[in-house]
Amino acid sequence: MKEVTITIDGLLIKAQEGMTVLRAAQANGLYIPNLCDHPDLDPAGFCRVCVVKIDDWKIVIACKQQVKEGMVINTEDPEVQQIRKSSVELLIANHPMTCLTCEADANCELQRVAHYVGITADDMKRYRRTARNLPMDTSNPFFDMDHSKCILCGICVRTCDELQNINAIDYAQRGVNTLISTCGNKPIADSRCESCGECVVRCPVGALSFKNSLRPTRHVRSVCTYCGVGCGIHLGVRGTSIVGVEGDRENPVNKGSLCVKGRFGYGFINHPDRITTPMIRKDGMLVEAGWDEALELVASRFNELIAKYGADTLGGFSSSRCTNEENYLLAKWVRTAIGSNNVDNCARV
Ligand code: SF4
Ligand code: SF4
Ligand code: SF4
Repeated sequence: MKEVTITIDGLLIKAQEGMTVLRAAQANGLYIPNLCDHPDLDPAGFCRVCVVKIDDWKIVIACKQQVKEGMVINTEDPEVQQIRKSSVELLIANHPMTCLTCEADANCELQRVAHYVGITADDMKRYRRTARNLPMDTSNPFFDMDHSKCILCGICVRTCDELQNINAIDYAQRGVNTLISTCGNKPIADSRCESCGECVVRCPVGALSFKNSLRPTRHVRSVCTYCGVGCGIHLGVRGTSIVGVEGDRENPVNKGSLCVKGRFGYGFINHPDRITTPMIRKDGMLVEAGWDEALELVASRFNELIAKYGADTLGGFSSSRCTNEENYLLAKWVRTAIGSNNVDNCARV
C-alpha cells in the first residue's frame, strides 16, 4: 500500500494511505485521547473526544479522518482542547464517583482521559449532576452490567455484532434515557447473550465487570483444552489458585478471543470435589485407587469381555479435548490392540 507523509504536532511521520489519523498516530506511539475506539473494531466516531485540527483550520475526529499526503495535524490546538474537554465534562457530569471500589479502577479509560484533558475539582463542582442510579443487571453468572457507569461508547454493542455476530445487545431509548439493553430489555441472562465476556474485556470503564474480581499476581501462558480449536490463553494465578483467564492476543488461532468455556470454565481446577486419583467401585462404593491397580482392573475386564463376547463388544470414544495425535493414537490402539472398529469422537461441540 502507498505510503504518505504527514505531520502530527510538528513530527514528520509515515503512514499507509487509507489509514485514519488515529491509527497513524497510534502506530507511531502518539496518544490521541479517545473513548469509543478499539483496535479490534471499526471506527465509530461516537465519543467526539479524539478531535484534532487539520491543516490549521478544520476540526475533525481522528478516528474517522483518513490521512492524506502532506496533511498537517494539530492535536493540542486551543480550540481542540476546549471541544475535547467539553465532551469529557458532559460524560462525567453524571458518572458515579466510586473509583476506589470500581472494578475498572486504575484500568479505566475515562479516568485516563479525564486526567489528560485536565479536569479539575472546580470543573467537577461546576458540571456535576446527580448520578443516573439505574438498576444493575446482575443476572449473568459471570459478569455484571452497571448502567450508571456506562458512557455509551458502543464498544460492547460493536463487539457483540462485529466480532461475535451475536447481536445480543444494542442501544435502547433516546436522549438522556439512552442505555445499552437486550432485546425487550430482558435481563442479560434471559437474552441471546452467550456469555463469552468479549464485551466485558473491551468495556473502557467499569460498566461491564467480571463477578470474580480477584486480581492475579502472575500469568501463565497456556492453551485452552476444552475443544479442538486450541485457543491461546493466559491463566491469571494468585497463590496456587487460578482466578481468571485472558485470551492470548499473540495466538494466531484466537487472536485474544475466547468462548464462555475457555474464559469462565476454570472453577473445577481448584474445586475441592475435583477427582485427582482413579476411582474403583468396591462393594457399590467408589474408592480411591492407584493408577497401576486401576489400569490392571480395566485390562482384565477388557480381556474377560473379549473372551466372552468378542472384540466388537468394545469400542473407543475419544475426546475433542485431546490433540489430533492423541485421537489418532486412541483409534489405532482400539483397532490394533483390541481388534475392534468401533471408534468415535465427540468433536461435535
Ligand atoms: S458476553 Fe458475548 S454474547 Fe454476551 S453481550 Fe457480551 S459479547 Fe455479546
Ligand atoms: S457498557 Fe461499557 S462498552 Fe458498553 S457502551 Fe457502556 S461503557 Fe461502552
Ligand atoms: S472451548 Fe472455547 S476458548 Fe476453549 S479452545 Fe474451544 S473455542 Fe477456544
